[in-house]
Amino acid sequence: MTLTIAQMMKLVVFGAAASVCLLPMKPIVEEGLASWPAVLLWEAIAIPLAQAVVAFAMVKPGRFRDGLILTLVGISLAVALGAAISLYAGGGGMRGGLTPGFLLWVILLLGIPLTRVFLYLLPGPCPGCSRSLLLPDGTFRPGPRESLKRAYRCGSCAGRFWKHQGEWKAMPAEVTRSMW
Ligand SMILES: [Zn+2]
Repeated sequence: MTLTIAQMMKLVVFGAAASVCLLPMKPIVEEGLASWPAVLLWEAIAIPLAQAVVAFAMVKPGRFRDGLILTLVGISLAVALGAAISLYAGGGGMRGGLTPGFLLWVILLLGIPLTRVFLYLLPGPCPGCSRSLLLPDGTFRPGPRESLKRAYRCGSCAGRFWKHQGEWKAMPAEVTRSMW
């Protein structure tokens, strides 16, 4: 894989975003404000989120960026959710400060966006060939003054669809031509 200068710069920014998250942690632990496991957990949540923000700013809009941001946010949410569940199963917070009721709320709050991320990433059933390979594609405008709609592409039959008033429609040919 060869990288252009622009791509190298982006990698540097990604790395910098991650290290900014790490920077203030050592003094916090030394001051006794937090334990290392708590800090590491925080990092595992904060770093992917920071990278998602960087990706939003740096990567050019498109399906790759959508997937990248969703994956990073998904990682962050999954770590937070896993931590909340293990604390809940362990019967309390790291210092006993978190009640099981509070943790249950945290789990619910994290679970909802995470489910949405996974539902977005997971292939849906294709209306054309009914295989579960329908993935979100780019956006398009169904009419001159209409809002942008999400297009979907089937990985099996390569059919392209969009949802109109709750029903799947085949993509209009002229839109398909202008998009791809
Ligand atoms: Zn299909």
